[in-house]
Amino acid sequence: MTDSFEAKGKRLRLVNELRNKGITDEEVLRAMNVVPRHLFIDDAFLVHAYVDKAFPISAGQTISQPYTVAFQSSLLKVKKRDKILEIGTGSGYQAAILAEMGAKIYTIERFRELYLKAQVILRELKYNSVNFFYGDGHEGKPQYSPFDAILITAATKSIPQLLLEQLKVGGRLVAPVGGKGLQEMTLVEKIAENEYKYSGHGSFVFVPMLTGTK
Ligand code: SAH
Repeated sequence: MTDSFEAKGKRLRLVNELRNKGITDEEVLRAMNVVPRHLFIDDAFLVHAYVDKAFPISAGQTISQPYTVAFQSSLLKVKKRDKILEIGTGSGYQAAILAEMGAKIYTIERFRELYLKAQVILRELKYNSVNFFYGDGHEGKPQYSPFDAILITAATKSIPQLLLEQLKVGGRLVAPVGGKGLQEMTLVEKIAENEYKYSGHGSFVFVPMLTGTK
């Protein structure tokens, strides 16, 4: 697993594209310039790795579009040493971006194959602050709660109450909310115990958040 001058050049171009599309969080942009996205894509398809598109990974799932990763990461307002719960490990790329930003990650995946694969790549890249779990993310990880931030990277019809309960007061949850087709990127800010502020941030397309494991 290697990085290359070619990949670095393509990555810088992608980061500039994200900037032009309105991403302003410098820490997010820095992390995306550092993490080698091509290593998260099957067979290291360099040509597909650094265009701003989602791409198929194993198990019929996708690695999110770079713009989407940047957008969700920006909404989370990540601070160093934040404790973040991610639902939907997928390729592990989003977790790597958050780890590069200095956060401690707890990430859950329902597909065993992806759960195993993502760990290999992140270990190789030395992102040791990422903790992996195999299971249904609807339940969250109460034993590690409360979290500074929670990120759902699969489309959910509604935000699970169990996850809202695992958020710190002052914490932020980001999730694409909706059914098939388009979902609304939703930010939930926990103002007080049992008090939440919701805001919508535009339409996105995600694979569905499903129940149970595979
Ligand atoms: N964050 C990922 C995006 C993966 S796509 C990345 O950076 O590549 C969404 C992922 O959510 C898929 O891998 C899918 O299997 C997973 N998923 C769907 N429903 C889930 C659930 N209930 N619990 C955990 N993971 C789930």
